[in-house]
Amino acid sequence: MASRRNVISGHRSTLDRLGSIFTPSVRSHTGSPLKPSSLPIISDTATPSSAAAPDQADGTARGRYAVISLGCPKNLVDTEQMLGRLDEDGYRMVDSVDGADFVVVNTCGFIDSARDESLGAIDEMLDLKRQGKIRGVVVTGCLAERQQGKLLESRPEIDAMVGVFGRNEIVGVVDRLQAGVEEQQQVFRPAAIRPLSDAVRTPVTPRHFAYLKISEGCDRLCTFCAIPKMRGKHYSKPIEQVIDEAKRLGDSGVREVVVVAQDTTYYGKDLYGKPRLNDLLTELDRIESLDWIRLMYFYPMYIDDALIDTLAGAKRIVPYIDMPLQHASDAMLKRMARKTTRSSQEAILSRLRERIDGLAMRTTMITGFPGETDEDFAELVDFVQQQRFEHLGVFTYSVEEDTPAARLPNRVSTEVMQRRNDQLMEVQQEIAFEWTSSRVGSVERVLLDAPLPDQPGVWIGRSRWEAPDIDGIIYVSGFESDPEVGTMVDCEIVAADGYDLVAAPL
Ligand code: SF4
Repeated sequence: MASRRNVISGHRSTLDRLGSIFTPSVRSHTGSPLKPSSLPIISDTATPSSAAAPDQADGTARGRYAVISLGCPKNLVDTEQMLGRLDEDGYRMVDSVDGADFVVVNTCGFIDSARDESLGAIDEMLDLKRQGKIRGVVVTGCLAERQQGKLLESRPEIDAMVGVFGRNEIVGVVDRLQAGVEEQQQVFRPAAIRPLSDAVRTPVTPRHFAYLKISEGCDRLCTFCAIPKMRGKHYSKPIEQVIDEAKRLGDSGVREVVVVAQDTTYYGKDLYGKPRLNDLLTELDRIESLDWIRLMYFYPMYIDDALIDTLAGAKRIVPYIDMPLQHASDAMLKRMARKTTRSSQEAILSRLRERIDGLAMRTTMITGFPGETDEDFAELVDFVQQQRFEHLGVFTYSVEEDTPAARLPNRVSTEVMQRRNDQLMEVQQEIAFEWTSSRVGSVERVLLDAPLPDQPGVWIGRSRWEAPDIDGIIYVSGFESDPEVGTMVDCEIVAADGYDLVAAPL
């Protein structure tokens, strides 16, 4: 898989457009990077669900830090968990490196472009350290886990490295750093056999939505993917733990939870001997404090009638599924070890569409996987035209060290994979634009994410069919008085603007 810049249906993400409204240093796996110049986290205008830790009784914090969180929503939850621990321990998060003693960079190691972005952020922070603007740089997350010694060799000024499974020890690492211990620290722990709790967490998303991580790791063996090497085997949080976390989020003012995992449909198999996503979703759907529950990262297996019944009859689970399919040619799916075929994918998609009213589907595809012929690509285009996904992201294949695909012959040239990527996005653009146009005149409930910067009276929102950060947005104007962030308003869609919509409150 390759450039993340390809993956947002050819348009800028909500976060990108909002600039500093949300979290200036949080750069998304699936969205365009935000302004690197605004690296430290939490702008004045952001409305995190809980504020940074107050200073201690004597008016001082134990230390002040800024954070850069890169990568996917799962990594963002890890960031929030580390912030929660630091805040609980008396450290204070600040919104500028100017006032920070140290910076935590939570990295992504997914694909080439993600690694480059992470290295760029680390280098930027090391520069600030050299200039004496900050005292320390702590590198955490997937890239730290994946590169370990290599990263330290190339950047010996990094003060501490904390792997994915060492994140619960962040406070001790920072304590030693603040105490002036000069020795470089490394905290790498074996992949966890039980899920780490995300209950202590300082949200960096706006108050009204949060990601809910239900499991860690992945047991699949997709040949292009290095994630299991960084994140270990699949392990699920017990149902009670997930429900407890969801209730806490709902009680804190979150209206929408976005359920994330590496492989959502595998949920529970490790703990209970069989997948139990259906039971989990049944329970989640009963939480009255939540309005919307959104499902991401479905794998096209383990989707049975009972699960579809639950989705079809749910009160709070929105008719939106993100199911990365990666390809449609049987030859490619086999080389990718996806354990699916075009016809099995078609069957599951048609069952979902038949049973779930008004379902919007998001998927991702890879172009230029080794051995992809013109015929394979033509089949992919045909599949996309046939399925008419509401949202589609396209990656160009990225060679990942130590993955089976890296050893496959018949590599596709960069030029060809990019040309195929562009062509597929053009096909999708027409489908997506037709879909947005077809919504003009309808009435939809819109969740208001934020006022549009520099345009008084104009708000940015989403309906049930748009996930935060990655999908199109709805511009809403015409309020008699200023609404609050996170309000849900019934609106008439009055115009389509490419991937986006324009609406007026009823
Ligand atoms: S399902 Fe496949 S692509 Fe997704 S994380 Fe697991 S191995 Fe990677």
